[in-house]
Amino acid sequence: MREKWNQFMQGRYGYDDLSRFLMKVFIAAIILSLFTGRIYIAGVFSLGRVFYWIALILIVYSYFRMFSKNIYKRSQENLRFLEKTRNIRNFFSTQQNLMKQRKKYHIYTCPDCKQKIRIPRGKGKIEIRCPKCGRTFIKRS
Ligand SMILES: [Zn+2]
Repeated sequence: MREKWNQFMQGRYGYDDLSRFLMKVFIAAIILSLFTGRIYIAGVFSLGRVFYWIALILIVYSYFRMFSKNIYKRSQENLRFLEKTRNIRNFFSTQQNLMKQRKKYHIYTCPDCKQKIRIPRGKGKIEIRCPKCGRTFIKRS
């Protein structure tokens, strides 16, 4: 079975970042379609139907890309996708890093020069010396 699949996928494009993104939107559209079936646009179109069709188009497009033999064109699409979403992806990875840092460190602001100072958590009451202006202050980390 696996061998047959590998044979089938031979020379085909497969999975990439754009596929992963399309899959997430697909799942989101499916979930939305479950909750919006009773909402009607202009009294006729069910919003749930609209999301359902969006999901259907997304899944068909995802599979089309996965099984495509035009590897060059698909990878170009993926590159364009990564290019266009670079800022938003950077924003999210920055937020994620900040969250991780906040668990390990406490960020204090110097009362004099407003310099931000990063102190490891769980050290009890400590004296902090501002590296910029030299002012010291006591804080609980
Ligand atoms: Zn300072």
